[in-house]
Amino acid sequence: MQEVTIHNAVFESYISENEINNAVSAVANKINEQYKEQDVVFIAVLNGSFMFCADLLKKINLKCEVSFVKMKSYEGTETTGKINELIGLSEDLRGKAVILVEDIVDTGNTLERLSEILISKGVKSAQIATLLYKPEAYKKKIPIDYVGIEIPNEFVLGYGLDYDGLGRNLSKIYKLKHH
Ligand code: 5GP
Repeated sequence: MQEVTIHNAVFESYISENEINNAVSAVANKINEQYKEQDVVFIAVLNGSFMFCADLLKKINLKCEVSFVKMKSYEGTETTGKINELIGLSEDLRGKAVILVEDIVDTGNTLERLSEILISKGVKSAQIATLLYKPEAYKKKIPIDYVGIEIPNEFVLGYGLDYDGLGRNLSKIYKLKHH
């Protein structure tokens, strides 16, 4: 499919399945190399990272655990403003080497909050693996350890990423078409 239309927005083909597969393999190889003698806990951030996580983990040959979390944001009081809470984390992460698995890093807000939470849980180390990264939009200082593909500031869809709930099932990545 060269184009898809969702809720009246037109998206054009952007990153092929083959390119995605190569990027996932490159990330997996780096992680396999770096964590040779170590146990790892992969923590995937739902919903967007489900497809990347599944493909990535099939290429990981380490002794590892996999867990899924979700960021829930809600309005707090006037003084606390917007609050991000992490749901789904049941494991004891104390002393463990953790790799966060993200679909895309944009401003980095989500990532920053997640790494604060992980550090407060007493992890031994926390690294970040993301399929897509928008360097022009990134506003934080936290290093992003494993990046599949860097992209410009475009809105993308597919391979786990949605537009208003739809499009996560698409096997390649599309970008919003500008007229
Ligand atoms: P950040 O907190 O880094 O600004 O944004 C991270 C989250 O925003 C991602 O996990 C994703 O859900 C959403 N997001 C950021 N950019 C895009 C995009 O281009 N397409 C889609 N579908 N979601 C995005």
